[in-house]
Amino acid sequence: MLELSKYTKELTKLFVTSDNILLICHLNPDGDAVGAQLALYQYLKAQGKNVNMFTPNYLQEFLKWMEGVNLINVFIRDRDRCRELIEKADLIVMLDFNQPGRLGEAEKLVAVSDAKKVIIDHHLNPENFADLVVSDPSVCSTSELLYEIITDINGGPFLNKSYAEALYIGIITDTGNFEHGNYSGRTFRIVADLLETGIEKEKILNLIYNNFSADRMRLQGYALCKKMVILPEYHTAYISLTRDERASYQYVKGDTEGFVNMPLSINGIILSALFIEKEGFVKLSFRSKGQFPANLIASEFFYGGGHLNASGGDYPDTLDNTIEYFLKVLKENFARYNKNNQ
Ligand code: 5GP
Ligand code: MN
Repeated sequence: MLELSKYTKELTKLFVTSDNILLICHLNPDGDAVGAQLALYQYLKAQGKNVNMFTPNYLQEFLKWMEGVNLINVFIRDRDRCRELIEKADLIVMLDFNQPGRLGEAEKLVAVSDAKKVIIDHHLNPENFADLVVSDPSVCSTSELLYEIITDINGGPFLNKSYAEALYIGIITDTGNFEHGNYSGRTFRIVADLLETGIEKEKILNLIYNNFSADRMRLQGYALCKKMVILPEYHTAYISLTRDERASYQYVKGDTEGFVNMPLSINGIILSALFIEKEGFVKLSFRSKGQFPANLIASEFFYGGGHLNASGGDYPDTLDNTIEYFLKVLKENFARYNKNNQ
């Protein structure tokens, strides 16, 4: 685990000396990104700070009920306001990512800003584009790391219900509701503290996991029944969905969340890939088991990155060509990637 005190002293100083603090999370923000962003917002506001937030693009639909989301600007919708926030900021805190490309259209503006910059993140191999990088790939989520940081800065847990709710959402979404193996005993101790603030976990779980449309469930059935391809030779399964297929099930952002995890429950499958056709490119998600490096597939071949067992990227081609390229990548690299897995 990270020796936090090395960072928290400097962070405290930055928080105390900054008047305008801007919090930014990554493109296609997930529960952990938004959870950590809203939690840090709650904490800094309670310290009397002037704090603003933006995300590079829109949130997934199933997160839009979270307390405080209406305070989050969306760069591609509120360009002028976000530009102004970047210019005005004397401290920019970036949450849940470690590559500048994950800022989307805001990348250049942030790069030229004179503000002090901090990264708080748990992805592997951070790039250094900030003054202070607090990175711990051993924790399940940025929300878990943020809890540790704020507890240290605060001299004890910050027991605020909205803060606890945001961090709880970050932790459950990044662990797949404690299904992925990326959490620890410490995670549960933190969750215990969060629950003791009185957050309504059943309400939260229902809003996150039991709040989809019937069409979304039918799309899931279609994806598994008609679109899942198994490649026994490579212990791999993949699902692809075209724009038309998604449209015919009244797709809303976030509807395909979790699809990529499902093939991993098939006996013998160690890699699962999801290909989502977008305008002019394909969005990819990878999940793996054991030591099979999903992050390397994403970073070496698909302009992306992520964690050992959960990663993603983009490929600027048609869906068919991207799948063909993926099959070539597997053919040429599967044995190398699988070396540590036996
Ligand atoms: P998901 O498949 O849920 O979109 O993403 C899984 C993991 O991969 C997340 O931790 C996310 O940060 C990372 N990831 C997804 N897409 C990209 C991408 O385009 N670039 C990078 N660097 N990481 C990504
Ligand atoms: Mn995360």
